[in-house]
Amino acid sequence: MNINKDYISDQNTYAGNNPVNIVIHNTDNFDKDADAKAHAKAQHDGNFDGMSAHIYVDDKSAYLAAPYNRGTWHVGVNYGGKLFGTVNNRNSVAIEMCVNAGYDYEKAFRNTVEITKQVMAELGIPADRVYTHYDVCAKNCPSQIRARGDWERFKNLIGGTTGTDIKDVAIGDSSVEAIARVVYGEAGVIASRNGFLGVAQCIHDMLEDGGYGKTVTEVMRKNYSAYGAKVTSDAARQAVYDVFKKGVRRFGDAVILQFRSFTNYSDGNGKIDRDKCAALLAEYQYLGSDSSSNRWGHLYFGHKTEMRPEPLNKQNRVQCGSFSKKENAEKLVTQLKAAGFAAIIKTEDDQYKVQAGAYDIPANAQKHVKRLKAAGFDAIIK
Ligand SMILES: [Zn+2]
Repeated sequence: MNINKDYISDQNTYAGNNPVNIVIHNTDNFDKDADAKAHAKAQHDGNFDGMSAHIYVDDKSAYLAAPYNRGTWHVGVNYGGKLFGTVNNRNSVAIEMCVNAGYDYEKAFRNTVEITKQVMAELGIPADRVYTHYDVCAKNCPSQIRARGDWERFKNLIGGTTGTDIKDVAIGDSSVEAIARVVYGEAGVIASRNGFLGVAQCIHDMLEDGGYGKTVTEVMRKNYSAYGAKVTSDAARQAVYDVFKKGVRRFGDAVILQFRSFTNYSDGNGKIDRDKCAALLAEYQYLGSDSSSNRWGHLYFGHKTEMRPEPLNKQNRVQCGSFSKKENAEKLVTQLKAAGFAAIIKTEDDQYKVQAGAYDIPANAQKHVKRLKAAGFDAIIK
């Protein structure tokens, strides 16, 4: 289906949008004539106050009302949404499905799916970055899709999860989407956000500590049996973002975190078994558990201190060399890979720079520099 561009304009938009997410809405305008064309025209004519969207879709047509590189007003008001701020008016495309009186829901729904897929393809946005307005702001929107419990079907029709291959996820902080998928697989029986946060933190700490594995895949294989699920969820994704990107700690005041499987240390009801944990309790303080299951989850032990996570910073890139000849950079990449380090070449200022990881948290970059130097490589943080 074609997207009509007759009413594209800059009205009610602003400069600067990096469209990496798509947010689906329902217009909730049930007037007889409130179709896609009417909405696009109203936006074009400056008749909307404080709201706008990129695309309006109804049961017969679709209209582009704003260029993708401009921001529209659609997820700016928060009612307690868990992705608020992460998905915002400067990194998303707004698609409004119109619900005018007498409309054919199924046709409008299918058209919205089709248009969403077109936008995904055009802008390179994966299916798991397509959200409801509710996901972002906890507003009851798209109200008609939600009222029918139809969002799962929408996600299935646009391709469900994307094909990111978790096998290639490295220690670096950059692949949160893929890690989220692993976390969900691991925490499949955990219903709570705290559960996901706990599992994400465990994986993070095991990667940090080394010895448990060099990659998420390795850590999962060695330490988790539920590894391999293909699905993801917003709660898992958000937990991974919080832990890997923002440095959030489930127990922020714990320096040492211990995680133990329930079967070995719990009383079978999600609480610690004091006898089984006696040795741990002699050394550590019990902090809590994270599961809604009575068979599965983590128990946390740690020393209490006033430690806080380091603040978010710019990406700290670990660089192992800078060359004017590409062959030399390639040679170093080969050597790094042979030694078990992931590495890529970045071209910058006519130089071929060999980068072996990029980290949000400076301490993580420093640890990686140490590992590289221990293996005989030159490494600095840029
Ligand atoms: Zn909405």
